[in-house]
Amino acid sequence: MRGLMQDTPLTVDAIFRHVEQHYGDGTIVTNNPGGITRVTYAEWAQRTRKLGDVLNTLGISSDGRVGTFGWNSQRHLELYFAAPSTGRVLHTLNVRLFPEQLTYIANHAEDEVVFVDRSVLGILWPLIDTMTTVRQVVVMDDGADTEIPDDARILDYETLLADAEPIDFHVEDETLAASMCYTSGTTGNPKGVVYSHRSTFLHTMGVLMPNAFGLGVNDVAMPVVPMFHANAWGIAQAAPAAGASLVMPGAMMQPENLAKLIVDEGVTFTAGVPTIWQGVLPHLAGRPHTLRTIGCGGSAVPKALSEAYREQVGLPILQAWGMTETHPVASSAILPQRFQDADDETQATQRARAGIPFLGVEARIVDSDTLEPQPWDDKATGELQVRGPWCAKDYYNPDAGVELTTEDGWMKTGDVAAMDSFGSIRIADRTKDLIKSGGEWISSVDLENAIMSHPAVKEAAVIGIPHPKWDERPLACVVVREGESVTAEQVLEHLQPLVAKWWMPEAVEFIDEVPKTSVGKFSKKDLRTMFAEYELSS
Ligand code: ADP
Repeated sequence: MRGLMQDTPLTVDAIFRHVEQHYGDGTIVTNNPGGITRVTYAEWAQRTRKLGDVLNTLGISSDGRVGTFGWNSQRHLELYFAAPSTGRVLHTLNVRLFPEQLTYIANHAEDEVVFVDRSVLGILWPLIDTMTTVRQVVVMDDGADTEIPDDARILDYETLLADAEPIDFHVEDETLAASMCYTSGTTGNPKGVVYSHRSTFLHTMGVLMPNAFGLGVNDVAMPVVPMFHANAWGIAQAAPAAGASLVMPGAMMQPENLAKLIVDEGVTFTAGVPTIWQGVLPHLAGRPHTLRTIGCGGSAVPKALSEAYREQVGLPILQAWGMTETHPVASSAILPQRFQDADDETQATQRARAGIPFLGVEARIVDSDTLEPQPWDDKATGELQVRGPWCAKDYYNPDAGVELTTEDGWMKTGDVAAMDSFGSIRIADRTKDLIKSGGEWISSVDLENAIMSHPAVKEAAVIGIPHPKWDERPLACVVVREGESVTAEQVLEHLQPLVAKWWMPEAVEFIDEVPKTSVGKFSKKDLRTMFAEYELSS
Protein backbone atom coordinates (compact mmCIF):
# COMPACT_ATOMS: atom_id res chain seq x y z
CA MET A 1 0.00 0.00 0.00
CA ARG A 2 1.34 3.41 -0.89
CA GLY A 3 1.04 6.57 1.16
CA LEU A 4 -1.60 8.96 -0.12
CA MET A 5 0.02 12.27 0.63
CA GLN A 6 0.93 15.03 -1.81
CA ASP A 7 4.31 15.06 -3.40
CA THR A 8 5.02 18.79 -3.68
CA PRO A 9 8.65 19.45 -4.56
CA LEU A 10 11.01 20.60 -1.79
CA THR A 11 12.65 23.53 -3.56
CA VAL A 12 14.53 26.72 -2.77
CA ASP A 13 11.77 28.83 -4.35
CA ALA A 14 9.31 27.21 -1.92
CA ILE A 15 11.47 28.57 0.94
CA PHE A 16 11.56 31.93 -0.84
CA ARG A 17 7.78 32.16 -1.17
CA HIS A 18 7.34 31.24 2.49
CA VAL A 19 9.61 34.11 3.58
CA GLU A 20 8.00 36.55 1.15
CA GLN A 21 4.44 35.70 2.13
CA HIS A 22 4.83 35.48 5.88
CA TYR A 23 7.91 37.29 7.11
CA GLY A 24 8.11 40.45 5.01
CA ASP A 25 8.64 42.48 8.18
CA GLY A 26 11.94 40.78 9.11
CA THR A 27 15.08 42.77 8.39
CA ILE A 28 18.48 42.24 6.81
CA VAL A 29 21.26 44.48 8.08
CA THR A 30 24.56 44.60 6.19
CA ASN A 31 27.74 46.20 7.49
CA ASN A 32 29.49 47.54 4.41
CA PRO A 33 32.66 49.61 4.06
CA GLY A 34 30.24 52.34 2.92
CA GLY A 35 28.16 52.05 6.10
CA ILE A 36 25.24 49.97 7.42
CA THR A 37 22.29 49.23 5.12
CA ARG A 38 18.89 47.85 6.15
CA VAL A 39 16.06 46.29 4.15
CA THR A 40 12.98 44.28 5.06
CA TYR A 41 12.45 40.76 3.73
CA ALA A 42 9.59 42.25 1.65
CA GLU A 43 12.03 44.61 -0.09
CA TRP A 44 14.61 41.85 -0.42
CA ALA A 45 12.02 39.53 -1.98
CA GLN A 46 11.03 42.10 -4.59
CA ARG A 47 14.69 42.69 -5.47
CA THR A 48 15.31 38.93 -5.64
CA ARG A 49 12.48 38.50 -8.16
CA LYS A 50 14.02 41.32 -10.23
CA LEU A 51 17.40 39.65 -10.00
CA GLY A 52 15.80 36.57 -11.58
CA ASP A 53 14.88 38.79 -14.52
CA VAL A 54 18.47 40.08 -14.67
CA LEU A 55 19.79 36.51 -14.95
CA ASN A 56 17.42 35.93 -17.88
CA THR A 57 18.45 39.18 -19.56
CA LEU A 58 22.14 38.36 -19.14
CA GLY A 59 21.43 35.19 -21.10
CA ILE A 60 22.66 32.75 -18.45
CA SER A 61 21.88 29.17 -19.61
CA SER A 62 18.89 27.49 -18.05
CA ASP A 63 21.11 25.58 -15.59
CA GLY A 64 24.15 27.86 -15.93
CA ARG A 65 26.52 28.37 -13.03
CA VAL A 66 26.19 31.77 -11.41
CA GLY A 67 29.45 32.56 -9.64
CA THR A 68 29.57 34.81 -6.60
CA PHE A 69 32.66 36.43 -5.11
CA GLY A 70 31.63 38.31 -2.06
CA TRP A 71 31.10 38.65 1.66
CA ASN A 72 27.96 37.96 3.64
CA SER A 73 25.51 40.60 2.50
CA GLN A 74 21.92 41.29 1.52
CA ARG A 75 22.85 41.20 -2.16
CA HIS A 76 24.58 37.85 -1.73
CA LEU A 77 21.34 36.62 -0.17
CA GLU A 78 19.43 37.85 -3.22
CA LEU A 79 21.72 35.68 -5.35
CA TYR A 80 21.34 32.74 -2.96
CA PHE A 81 17.64 32.63 -3.87
CA ALA A 82 17.38 34.12 -7.38
CA ALA A 83 19.90 31.76 -8.99
CA PRO A 84 18.37 28.43 -7.85
CA SER A 85 14.80 29.73 -8.07
CA THR A 86 15.29 30.33 -11.81
CA GLY A 87 16.87 26.88 -12.30
CA ARG A 88 20.46 28.16 -12.31
CA VAL A 89 23.15 26.88 -10.01
CA LEU A 90 24.64 29.25 -7.47
CA HIS A 91 28.39 28.79 -7.19
CA THR A 92 30.05 30.58 -4.31
CA LEU A 93 33.75 31.27 -4.87
CA ASN A 94 35.93 31.62 -1.79
CA VAL A 95 37.53 35.09 -1.87
CA ARG A 96 40.50 33.88 0.17
CA LEU A 97 41.68 31.14 -2.17
CA PHE A 98 44.92 31.33 -4.11
CA PRO A 99 44.57 32.67 -7.68
CA GLU A 100 45.33 29.27 -9.28
CA GLN A 101 42.66 27.60 -7.16
CA LEU A 102 40.08 30.25 -8.09
CA THR A 103 40.82 29.80 -11.77
CA TYR A 104 40.67 26.02 -11.40
CA ILE A 105 37.33 26.12 -9.60
CA ALA A 106 35.63 28.68 -11.88
CA ASN A 107 36.70 26.71 -14.95
CA HIS A 108 35.81 23.36 -13.44
CA ALA A 109 32.32 24.59 -12.56
CA GLU A 110 32.05 26.51 -15.88
CA ASP A 111 30.82 29.73 -14.30
CA GLU A 112 29.13 31.97 -16.89
CA VAL A 113 28.98 35.14 -14.82
CA VAL A 114 30.52 36.27 -11.55
CA PHE A 115 28.81 38.67 -9.15
CA VAL A 116 31.54 40.39 -7.16
CA ASP A 117 31.65 42.79 -4.21
CA ARG A 118 33.50 45.95 -5.13
CA SER A 119 35.78 45.49 -2.10
CA VAL A 120 37.20 42.26 -3.62
CA LEU A 121 37.05 43.20 -7.29
CA GLY A 122 40.80 43.82 -7.16
CA ILE A 123 41.35 40.12 -6.36
CA LEU A 124 39.03 38.76 -9.04
CA TRP A 125 39.61 41.05 -11.98
CA PRO A 126 43.28 40.17 -12.67
CA LEU A 127 42.14 36.52 -13.06
CA ILE A 128 39.24 37.16 -15.37
CA ASP A 129 41.01 36.19 -18.59
CA THR A 130 41.99 32.84 -17.05
CA MET A 131 38.33 32.06 -16.27
CA THR A 132 37.48 30.85 -19.72
CA THR A 133 33.69 30.50 -19.43
CA VAL A 134 32.98 33.78 -17.59
CA ARG A 135 31.35 36.31 -19.93
CA GLN A 136 30.23 39.01 -17.49
CA VAL A 137 31.27 40.43 -14.16
CA VAL A 138 28.55 42.16 -12.17
CA VAL A 139 29.88 44.55 -9.54
CA MET A 140 27.99 44.89 -6.27
CA ASP A 141 29.09 48.27 -4.95
CA ASP A 142 29.59 47.88 -1.21
CA GLY A 143 31.07 51.36 -0.83
CA ALA A 144 34.70 50.29 -1.03
CA ASP A 145 36.93 52.61 -3.05
CA THR A 146 38.35 49.86 -5.32
CA GLU A 147 38.74 51.19 -8.83
CA ILE A 148 36.28 49.71 -11.34
CA PRO A 149 38.05 48.99 -14.66
CA ASP A 150 36.54 50.41 -17.83
CA ASP A 151 35.65 47.16 -19.61
CA ALA A 152 32.56 46.08 -21.56
CA ARG A 153 32.32 42.86 -19.49
CA ILE A 154 31.75 44.82 -16.27
CA LEU A 155 28.16 45.64 -15.31
CA ASP A 156 26.68 47.36 -12.28
CA TYR A 157 24.31 45.36 -10.05
CA GLU A 158 22.01 48.22 -9.06
CA THR A 159 21.72 49.51 -12.63
CA LEU A 160 20.72 46.05 -13.85
CA LEU A 161 18.19 45.70 -11.04
CA ALA A 162 16.68 49.13 -11.71
CA ASP A 163 15.94 48.08 -15.30
CA ALA A 164 14.44 44.69 -14.36
CA GLU A 165 10.90 43.47 -13.68
CA PRO A 166 9.98 41.03 -10.89
CA ILE A 167 9.42 37.50 -12.23
CA ASP A 168 7.73 34.29 -11.04
CA PHE A 169 9.80 31.43 -9.66
CA HIS A 170 8.81 27.81 -10.28
CA VAL A 171 11.20 24.91 -10.03
CA GLU A 172 9.32 21.64 -10.46
CA ASP A 173 12.03 19.07 -9.93
CA GLU A 174 13.49 18.96 -6.44
CA THR A 175 16.37 16.74 -7.53
CA LEU A 176 17.89 19.48 -9.71
CA ALA A 177 21.09 21.22 -8.62
CA ALA A 178 20.53 24.40 -6.59
CA SER A 179 24.05 25.38 -5.67
CA MET A 180 27.59 24.14 -5.59
CA CYS A 181 30.48 24.61 -3.27
CA TYR A 182 34.07 23.44 -3.46
CA THR A 183 35.79 22.03 -0.41
CA SER A 184 38.35 24.53 0.74
CA GLY A 185 41.20 22.14 0.07
CA THR A 186 42.69 21.47 3.51
CA THR A 187 43.51 18.15 1.84
CA GLY A 188 44.24 17.85 -1.89
CA ASN A 189 42.55 19.63 -4.82
CA PRO A 190 39.25 21.45 -4.26
CA LYS A 191 36.33 19.13 -4.98
CA GLY A 192 32.90 20.28 -6.10
CA VAL A 193 29.87 19.36 -4.01
CA VAL A 194 26.52 19.90 -5.71
CA TYR A 195 23.52 20.55 -3.47
CA SER A 196 20.05 19.79 -4.81
CA HIS A 197 16.87 21.75 -4.09
CA ARG A 198 15.65 18.85 -1.98
CA SER A 199 18.85 18.57 0.05
CA THR A 200 18.81 22.34 0.64
CA PHE A 201 15.21 22.27 1.85
CA LEU A 202 15.82 19.33 4.18
CA HIS A 203 19.11 20.73 5.51
CA THR A 204 17.31 24.01 6.22
CA MET A 205 14.72 22.12 8.29
CA GLY A 206 17.54 20.17 9.93
CA VAL A 207 19.46 23.20 11.16
CA LEU A 208 16.23 24.87 12.26
CA MET A 209 15.52 22.16 14.81
CA PRO A 210 15.93 23.09 18.48
CA ASN A 211 18.76 20.58 18.96
CA ALA A 212 20.60 22.33 16.12
CA PHE A 213 20.41 26.12 15.78
CA GLY A 214 16.76 26.35 16.82
CA LEU A 215 16.08 29.60 14.96
CA GLY A 216 12.70 31.34 15.28
CA VAL A 217 10.99 34.69 14.71
CA ASN A 218 12.51 36.21 17.82
CA ASP A 219 16.04 35.58 16.66
CA VAL A 220 18.53 37.97 15.13
CA ALA A 221 21.02 35.72 13.36
CA MET A 222 24.50 36.74 12.34
CA PRO A 223 26.34 34.21 10.17
CA VAL A 224 30.04 35.02 10.51
CA VAL A 225 30.88 31.84 8.65
CA PRO A 226 31.12 33.15 5.11
CA MET A 227 28.44 32.51 2.51
CA PHE A 228 31.34 31.29 0.35
CA HIS A 229 32.25 28.61 2.92
CA ALA A 230 30.00 25.57 2.91
CA ASN A 231 26.78 27.45 2.38
CA ALA A 232 27.20 29.66 5.48
CA TRP A 233 26.28 26.49 7.39
CA GLY A 234 22.73 26.83 6.11
CA ILE A 235 22.04 29.97 8.16
CA ALA A 236 21.43 32.08 5.05
CA GLN A 237 18.44 29.89 4.22
CA ALA A 238 17.37 28.91 7.74
CA ALA A 239 17.16 32.41 9.26
CA PRO A 240 14.79 33.82 6.61
CA ALA A 241 12.82 30.55 6.57
CA ALA A 242 12.19 30.99 10.29
CA GLY A 243 11.37 34.69 9.98
CA ALA A 244 14.47 35.56 12.01
CA SER A 245 16.22 38.80 11.12
CA LEU A 246 19.70 38.65 9.65
CA VAL A 247 22.82 40.67 10.42
CA MET A 248 25.47 40.35 7.73
CA PRO A 249 29.03 41.42 8.60
CA GLY A 250 29.92 42.23 4.97
CA ALA A 251 33.58 43.00 4.39
CA MET A 252 33.86 44.25 7.99
CA MET A 253 35.13 40.96 9.43
CA GLN A 254 37.56 42.40 12.00
CA PRO A 255 36.88 41.01 15.53
CA GLU A 256 36.06 44.44 16.97
CA ASN A 257 33.50 45.06 14.23
CA LEU A 258 31.90 41.66 14.83
CA ALA A 259 31.64 42.31 18.57
CA LYS A 260 30.15 45.76 17.93
CA LEU A 261 27.51 44.32 15.58
CA ILE A 262 26.57 41.65 18.14
CA VAL A 263 26.04 44.31 20.79
CA ASP A 264 24.50 47.10 18.65
CA GLU A 265 22.15 44.94 16.57
CA GLY A 266 20.89 42.69 19.36
CA VAL A 267 22.24 39.50 17.80
CA THR A 268 20.86 36.36 19.48
CA PHE A 269 22.46 33.68 17.33
CA THR A 270 25.81 33.66 15.59
CA ALA A 271 28.21 31.07 14.17
CA GLY A 272 31.78 30.85 12.92
CA VAL A 273 34.99 28.82 13.12
CA PRO A 274 37.02 28.68 16.38
CA THR A 275 39.67 31.19 15.25
CA ILE A 276 36.93 33.81 14.79
CA TRP A 277 35.68 33.37 18.36
CA GLN A 278 39.23 33.32 19.65
CA GLY A 279 39.66 36.80 18.14
CA VAL A 280 36.27 38.19 19.20
CA LEU A 281 36.51 37.11 22.86
CA PRO A 282 38.48 40.08 24.25
CA HIS A 283 36.15 42.50 22.44
CA LEU A 284 32.98 40.89 23.78
CA ALA A 285 34.07 39.90 27.29
CA GLY A 286 32.14 41.75 29.98
CA ARG A 287 29.89 43.67 27.56
CA PRO A 288 26.10 43.48 27.72
CA HIS A 289 24.64 41.40 24.88
CA THR A 290 21.59 39.37 23.85
CA LEU A 291 23.31 36.24 22.55
CA ARG A 292 21.69 32.89 23.30
CA THR A 293 23.80 30.66 21.06
CA ILE A 294 27.29 30.88 19.59
CA GLY A 295 27.64 28.10 17.06
CA CYS A 296 31.11 26.89 16.20
CA GLY A 297 32.63 24.14 14.11
CA GLY A 298 34.70 23.51 11.03
CA SER A 299 37.46 22.26 13.29
CA ALA A 300 37.62 21.04 16.86
CA VAL A 301 36.33 23.63 19.32
CA PRO A 302 38.89 23.79 22.15
CA LYS A 303 37.28 23.15 25.52
CA ALA A 304 39.29 26.06 26.89
CA LEU A 305 37.71 28.44 24.34
CA SER A 306 34.17 27.33 25.13
CA GLU A 307 34.86 27.66 28.86
CA ALA A 308 36.40 31.11 28.39
CA TYR A 309 33.15 32.19 26.70
CA ARG A 310 31.08 30.69 29.50
CA GLU A 311 33.11 32.60 32.09
CA GLN A 312 33.66 35.90 30.28
CA VAL A 313 30.64 36.23 27.97
CA GLY A 314 28.12 34.23 29.98
CA LEU A 315 27.42 31.38 27.58
CA PRO A 316 29.47 28.43 26.36
CA ILE A 317 29.99 27.68 22.68
CA LEU A 318 27.70 25.22 20.89
CA GLN A 319 29.92 22.91 18.89
CA ALA A 320 28.64 21.50 15.60
CA TRP A 321 30.25 19.07 13.21
CA GLY A 322 29.98 18.80 9.48
CA MET A 323 31.67 19.10 6.12
CA THR A 324 31.03 20.80 2.81
CA GLU A 325 29.92 17.28 1.77
CA THR A 326 27.19 17.27 4.46
CA HIS A 327 25.66 20.61 3.41
CA PRO A 328 27.45 21.14 5.88
CA VAL A 329 25.92 20.66 9.33
CA ALA A 330 25.27 17.12 10.51
CA SER A 331 25.53 17.02 14.32
CA SER A 332 25.74 19.21 17.37
CA ALA A 333 26.98 18.92 20.94
CA ILE A 334 23.74 20.01 22.52
CA LEU A 335 23.65 18.51 26.04
CA PRO A 336 21.38 15.45 26.30
CA GLN A 337 19.06 15.22 29.33
CA ARG A 338 21.46 13.07 31.33
CA PHE A 339 24.00 15.91 31.43
CA GLN A 340 21.65 18.81 32.16
CA ASP A 341 22.41 18.79 35.90
CA ALA A 342 26.02 17.63 35.65
CA ASP A 343 28.88 19.69 37.08
CA ASP A 344 30.63 22.32 34.95
CA GLU A 345 33.60 20.12 34.10
CA THR A 346 31.43 17.21 32.90
CA GLN A 347 29.31 19.55 30.80
CA ALA A 348 32.40 21.19 29.32
CA THR A 349 33.75 17.77 28.34
CA GLN A 350 30.46 16.91 26.62
CA ARG A 351 30.52 20.21 24.73
CA ALA A 352 33.93 19.30 23.36
CA ARG A 353 32.29 16.51 21.32
CA ALA A 354 30.83 16.64 17.84
CA GLY A 355 27.70 15.29 19.51
CA ILE A 356 24.47 13.75 18.26
CA PRO A 357 23.62 13.56 14.55
CA PHE A 358 20.55 15.56 13.52
CA LEU A 359 17.38 13.73 12.60
CA GLY A 360 18.00 12.93 8.94
CA VAL A 361 21.65 11.98 9.35
CA GLU A 362 22.86 8.55 10.46
CA ALA A 363 26.43 7.99 11.63
CA ARG A 364 28.65 4.95 12.12
CA ILE A 365 32.31 4.25 12.88
CA VAL A 366 34.00 1.48 10.93
CA ASP A 367 37.39 0.12 10.00
CA SER A 368 38.00 2.07 6.80
CA ASP A 369 39.38 -0.98 4.94
CA THR A 370 37.06 -3.78 6.01
CA LEU A 371 34.02 -1.61 6.94
CA GLU A 372 33.86 -3.64 10.17
CA PRO A 373 31.71 -1.67 12.67
CA GLN A 374 33.61 -0.49 15.77
CA PRO A 375 32.08 -0.71 19.25
CA TRP A 376 30.30 2.36 20.66
CA ASP A 377 32.34 2.42 23.87
CA ASP A 378 33.88 5.89 23.42
CA LYS A 379 37.30 4.25 23.23
CA ALA A 380 37.46 2.36 19.95
CA THR A 381 37.95 4.63 16.97
CA GLY A 382 37.16 4.19 13.31
CA GLU A 383 36.36 6.21 10.24
CA LEU A 384 33.23 8.27 10.74
CA GLN A 385 30.76 7.56 7.94
CA VAL A 386 27.38 9.17 7.46
CA ARG A 387 24.31 8.87 5.29
CA GLY A 388 21.17 10.88 4.78
CA PRO A 389 19.33 13.14 2.34
CA TRP A 390 21.81 16.01 2.75
CA CYS A 391 24.99 13.93 2.49
CA ALA A 392 26.79 13.97 -0.87
CA LYS A 393 26.84 10.85 -3.04
CA ASP A 394 29.62 11.94 -5.37
CA TYR A 395 31.78 14.90 -6.31
CA TYR A 396 31.20 16.96 -9.44
CA ASN A 397 33.37 15.47 -12.20
CA PRO A 398 35.86 14.07 -9.68
CA ASP A 399 39.49 13.36 -10.44
CA ALA A 400 40.11 9.70 -11.13
CA GLY A 401 40.41 7.64 -7.97
CA VAL A 402 38.34 9.93 -5.74
CA GLU A 403 35.45 7.99 -4.23
CA LEU A 404 33.15 9.43 -1.65
CA THR A 405 30.74 6.56 -1.07
CA THR A 406 31.40 3.06 0.30
CA GLU A 407 30.15 -0.08 -1.45
CA ASP A 408 27.25 -0.18 1.00
CA GLY A 409 26.18 3.43 0.46
CA TRP A 410 27.74 5.43 3.31
CA MET A 411 29.67 8.66 2.84
CA LYS A 412 33.32 8.53 3.88
CA THR A 413 34.26 11.57 5.94
CA GLY A 414 38.00 11.03 6.37
CA ASP A 415 37.49 11.83 10.05
CA VAL A 416 38.44 9.40 12.79
CA ALA A 417 35.96 9.25 15.64
CA ALA A 418 34.74 7.34 18.67
CA MET A 419 31.08 7.05 19.68
CA ASP A 420 29.65 6.60 23.18
CA SER A 421 26.85 4.17 23.94
CA PHE A 422 24.27 6.85 23.02
CA GLY A 423 25.90 7.38 19.62
CA SER A 424 27.38 10.77 20.51
CA ILE A 425 30.37 11.42 18.24
CA ARG A 426 33.81 12.39 19.48
CA ILE A 427 36.13 13.40 16.65
CA ALA A 428 39.63 12.10 17.33
CA ASP A 429 41.27 13.56 14.24
CA ARG A 430 41.35 13.74 10.50
CA THR A 431 42.85 10.57 9.09
CA LYS A 432 45.62 12.63 7.54
CA ASP A 433 46.47 14.44 10.77
CA LEU A 434 46.74 11.43 13.06
CA ILE A 435 50.27 10.81 14.27
CA LYS A 436 51.49 7.24 13.96
CA SER A 437 53.88 6.45 16.77
CA GLY A 438 55.19 2.92 17.33
CA GLY A 439 52.23 1.43 15.46
CA GLU A 440 49.69 3.32 17.58
CA TRP A 441 47.76 6.48 16.73
CA ILE A 442 48.03 9.76 18.57
CA SER A 443 45.23 12.29 18.17
CA SER A 444 46.62 15.71 17.29
CA VAL A 445 43.26 17.26 18.24
CA ASP A 446 43.37 15.87 21.80
CA LEU A 447 46.95 17.07 22.24
CA GLU A 448 46.10 20.54 20.93
CA ASN A 449 43.15 20.76 23.28
CA ALA A 450 45.31 19.82 26.24
CA ILE A 451 48.02 22.34 25.32
CA MET A 452 45.48 25.11 24.74
CA SER A 453 44.13 24.62 28.25
CA HIS A 454 47.37 26.26 29.49
CA PRO A 455 46.45 29.87 30.33
CA ALA A 456 49.50 31.36 28.58
CA VAL A 457 48.84 29.50 25.32
CA LYS A 458 46.88 31.28 22.61
CA GLU A 459 46.99 28.62 19.90
CA ALA A 460 48.57 25.19 19.52
CA ALA A 461 48.80 22.87 16.55
CA VAL A 462 50.43 19.46 16.60
CA ILE A 463 51.93 17.63 13.61
CA GLY A 464 53.78 14.35 13.18
CA ILE A 465 57.51 14.53 12.46
CA PRO A 466 59.31 11.48 11.00
CA HIS A 467 61.22 9.54 13.64
CA PRO A 468 63.73 6.74 12.96
CA LYS A 469 62.48 4.51 15.75
CA TRP A 470 58.81 5.38 16.26
CA ASP A 471 57.81 6.23 12.69
CA GLU A 472 56.43 9.62 13.74
CA ARG A 473 56.46 11.67 16.90
CA PRO A 474 54.37 14.74 17.79
CA LEU A 475 55.79 18.22 17.43
CA ALA A 476 53.80 20.89 19.28
CA CYS A 477 53.76 24.32 17.62
CA VAL A 478 52.69 26.85 20.20
CA VAL A 479 51.63 30.51 20.00
CA VAL A 480 51.98 32.37 23.31
CA ARG A 481 49.38 34.92 24.40
CA GLU A 482 50.45 38.55 24.21
CA GLY A 483 52.05 39.70 27.44
CA GLU A 484 52.49 36.12 28.72
CA SER A 485 55.45 33.80 28.66
CA VAL A 486 55.87 30.05 28.91
CA THR A 487 58.75 27.65 28.30
CA ALA A 488 58.74 24.31 26.48
CA GLU A 489 59.31 22.57 29.83
CA GLN A 490 56.28 24.29 31.35
CA VAL A 491 54.10 23.22 28.41
CA LEU A 492 55.23 19.62 28.87
CA GLU A 493 54.73 19.79 32.63
CA HIS A 494 51.19 21.04 32.05
CA LEU A 495 50.54 18.09 29.72
CA GLN A 496 51.87 15.38 32.02
CA PRO A 497 48.69 14.76 34.02
CA LEU A 498 46.48 15.26 30.94
CA VAL A 499 47.79 12.80 28.35
CA ALA A 500 49.41 9.35 28.16
CA LYS A 501 53.17 9.31 28.50
CA TRP A 502 53.80 8.11 24.94
CA TRP A 503 51.61 10.97 23.62
CA MET A 504 53.93 13.61 25.08
CA PRO A 505 55.26 15.85 22.28
CA GLU A 506 58.82 15.10 21.34
CA ALA A 507 59.48 18.82 21.04
CA VAL A 508 57.77 22.16 21.50
CA GLU A 509 58.42 24.99 19.05
CA PHE A 510 57.17 28.54 19.56
CA ILE A 511 55.76 30.29 16.48
CA ASP A 512 54.16 33.71 15.93
CA GLU A 513 50.97 32.38 14.42
CA VAL A 514 49.50 29.05 13.30
CA PRO A 515 49.06 29.29 9.51
CA LYS A 516 45.36 29.34 8.56
CA THR A 517 43.41 28.04 5.57
CA SER A 518 41.16 30.22 3.43
CA VAL A 519 38.31 29.59 5.87
CA GLY A 520 40.32 30.26 9.01
CA LYS A 521 41.17 26.71 10.08
CA PHE A 522 44.63 25.61 11.25
CA SER A 523 46.49 24.64 8.09
CA LYS A 524 48.45 21.52 8.98
CA LYS A 525 49.54 21.33 5.36
CA ASP A 526 51.37 24.68 5.67
CA LEU A 527 52.70 23.77 9.09
CA ARG A 528 54.17 20.54 7.71
CA THR A 529 55.86 22.54 4.94
CA MET A 530 57.22 24.99 7.54
CA PHE A 531 58.75 22.11 9.52
CA ALA A 532 59.63 19.87 6.54
CA GLU A 533 63.34 19.93 7.39
CA TYR A 534 62.79 19.66 11.13
CA GLU A 535 64.87 17.06 12.89
CA LEU A 536 64.03 15.73 16.30
CA SER A 537 67.03 15.75 18.58
CA SER A 538 66.29 12.44 20.32
P1 ADP B 1 38.00 21.34 4.29
O1 ADP B 1 38.01 19.84 4.08
O2 ADP B 1 38.57 22.06 3.15
O3 ADP B 1 38.52 21.78 5.63
P2 ADP B 1 35.28 21.55 5.23
O4 ADP B 1 34.96 22.89 5.72
O5 ADP B 1 34.26 20.81 4.49
O6 ADP B 1 36.49 21.75 4.26
O7 ADP B 1 35.84 20.71 6.43
C1 ADP B 1 35.24 19.58 6.97
C2 ADP B 1 36.12 19.00 8.03
O8 ADP B 1 36.27 19.91 9.12
C3 ADP B 1 35.59 17.75 8.66
O9 ADP B 1 35.87 16.60 7.89
C4 ADP B 1 36.36 17.73 9.98
O10 ADP B 1 37.66 17.19 9.83
C5 ADP B 1 36.49 19.18 10.32
N1 ADP B 1 35.48 19.55 11.33
C6 ADP B 1 34.31 20.15 11.13
N2 ADP B 1 33.66 20.33 12.30
C7 ADP B 1 34.45 19.82 13.26
C8 ADP B 1 34.33 19.67 14.69
N3 ADP B 1 33.29 20.15 15.36
N4 ADP B 1 35.34 19.05 15.34
C9 ADP B 1 36.42 18.57 14.69
N5 ADP B 1 36.59 18.68 13.35
C10 ADP B 1 35.61 19.29 12.65
